Amino acid sequence: MLCGKCGNKMELGEAAVRYTGWGIFFFGASYKHLFYKPKDAGPNYKVAVIKNNQCATAYRCESCGTTTILNDGQERNLIHW
Ligand SMILES: [Zn+2]
Repeated sequence: MLCGKCGNKMELGEAAVRYTGWGIFFFGASYKHLFYKPKDAGPNYKVAVIKNNQCATAYRCESCGTTTILNDGQERNLIHW
């Protein structure tokens, strides 16, 4: 896949929402999703891109840092992370 921002080849990987050790210490291990909301959408519009404890196929551009997350509909647990 080519980067939509700079056109360089992107690296295949996975994206996930996880908490960090310091985050647990300060805020606790809460239930989290990664959401997307279009710029002009209403305040209640949101799409869960990655659900809690799941991961998704993603591509990242090493040149500019752009990351593309694919919504391939697969529910995959983070047991291998
Ligand atoms: Zn790029």
